Amino acid sequence: MRRALLLLALALPFSAQAAEPVKVLTSFSILADMTRQIGGDHIALTNLVGPDSDAHTYETTPADGKQVLAADLIVENGLQFEPWLDRLVASTETHAKVIKASDGVLPRTLEEDGQTIPDPHAWNSLANARIYAANILKGLDAVDPAHAADYQRNHDAYVAKIDDLLKVAAKTFGSLPPGNKRIVTSHDAFGYLGQAYGIEFIAPQGLSTEREATAADVAGLVRQIREQHIKAVFMENISDSRLLKQIAEESGARIGGTLYSDALSAEGPGSTYLGFYRSNIETLGKALAR
Ligand code: ZN
Repeated sequence: MRRALLLLALALPFSAQAAEPVKVLTSFSILADMTRQIGGDHIALTNLVGPDSDAHTYETTPADGKQVLAADLIVENGLQFEPWLDRLVASTETHAKVIKASDGVLPRTLEEDGQTIPDPHAWNSLANARIYAANILKGLDAVDPAHAADYQRNHDAYVAKIDDLLKVAAKTFGSLPPGNKRIVTSHDAFGYLGQAYGIEFIAPQGLSTEREATAADVAGLVRQIREQHIKAVFMENISDSRLLKQIAEESGARIGGTLYSDALSAEGPGSTYLGFYRSNIETLGKALAR
């Protein structure tokens, strides 16, 4: 039987054989989920930085190089989030099409250590998630035009769910009491969310978890929390919570819970991007309503 199938496959013209799933490689868990939602059964997906893991500090392995080489499509975030993947692509003679999911996003920029750098955490805005979905759709269409209609349908269904969640976010954040909306997280991952809903996020570590907060940073933040009556401090699913707990203790601030910042969780509500975002809306909404 197997032999018969093989012979049949050899006899078919090239286009019919292309029914084999497209090999897609994503850089981190959020893109993996979005790409899976749109690619459905037509893609075979491999992801590099998994759930609850930190892409800022990721170190590539020789096995990652093989995945880059084998891929038909590589989906990365862009905005300088994955310099390690760009290096890997440059050092490998891959035939893969490489796309940046954040292409077309209006980037926030920050001054850090005397340099202007883009904020890569664009996925923390649902409006940007729509742009991500459109770019992933375009990428899949380019490498697998035969399934464009299916990708379009999956994309449209996914964007409808993003739009539903946009309404939930607008309702939750729109009904908060006016005034103080300052909160602390360990690294600066929520600027796009803050921009959308008028919440001010303050972080001792800055834009990347690579940077360690100095004793002076921590002391300054403790002072700021006391002076500005900051509502709560939040832990992140990708970060060690010790620094945040220390800051909460020294400043007397409440711990508002755990936010999903740069990665999905392995299981539970945060294991999809939409679940991750919904959980953050609820956690933030509760802390800011008090
Ligand atoms: Zn980050």
